[in-house]
Amino acid sequence: MGRKFFVGGNWKCNGTGEEVKKIVSTLNAGEVPSGDVVEVVVSPPFVFLPLVKSTLKPDFHVAAQNCWVKKGGAFTGEISADIAEMLVNLGIPWVILGHSERRLLLNESNEFVGEKVAYALSKGLKVIACVGETLEQRESGSTMEVVAAQTKAIADKVSNWANVVLAYEPVWAIGTGKVATPAQAQEVHSELRNWFQANISPEVAATIRIIYGGSVSGANCKELAAKPDVDGFLVGGASLKPEFIDIIKSAEVKKNC
Ligand code: PEP
Repeated sequence: MGRKFFVGGNWKCNGTGEEVKKIVSTLNAGEVPSGDVVEVVVSPPFVFLPLVKSTLKPDFHVAAQNCWVKKGGAFTGEISADIAEMLVNLGIPWVILGHSERRLLLNESNEFVGEKVAYALSKGLKVIACVGETLEQRESGSTMEVVAAQTKAIADKVSNWANVVLAYEPVWAIGTGKVATPAQAQEVHSELRNWFQANISPEVAATIRIIYGGSVSGANCKELAAKPDVDGFLVGGASLKPEFIDIIKSAEVKKNC
């Protein structure tokens, strides 16, 4: 069975209640391929999760942008993934973990991200796990070493990859307007798949969805989507705009590949 195209929208720390309602109504009205062709997941700030969950059309799903590494309790400002508690209890099926903004601004280490992914999965959440190199790392030729180490730290804690989507997001492309070329994205995605083949299993290598993130737009998505190892996108800025619908539609490119 082929890998279903996946489009995630990371709204980050953006939006007022009114803006969120507007984005949801644009999404609900958008004519997009059916759920057999593309899986769409949007990730609003925590405070808007219930609103988005209750107003978004049911074909689309909702993700949290982070969750705590263990059971809830005395962890001010954190959100628990625990089944009896918050995200799963609210019916939020997905969470984004390991985003570079958290790795870099909040010093989340590879090991900490690995622990969070394992805990979230153990509580029934599906995870969009992000990896990616900085410009300095790319220029020094260590891109693959960096993303492999980030992926290995997850693999050290996780044995079942069925509910993981891996997002390759080069840090230099996030929010900069400098998108990776389709060839650059394909090269890293294919090497990551080889890494899964060598270190996890041929089955996981063949089935795990590896999506690209970093300045994806309505204008560049089709070319990226045409690459064989690009299984979709994680979209930041453009997920707040009507062009997100065009990005979802790029799933159709796979039909002609
Ligand atoms: C992101 O934050 O995950 C992202 C890819 O952002 P942008 O699309 O704005 O580069």
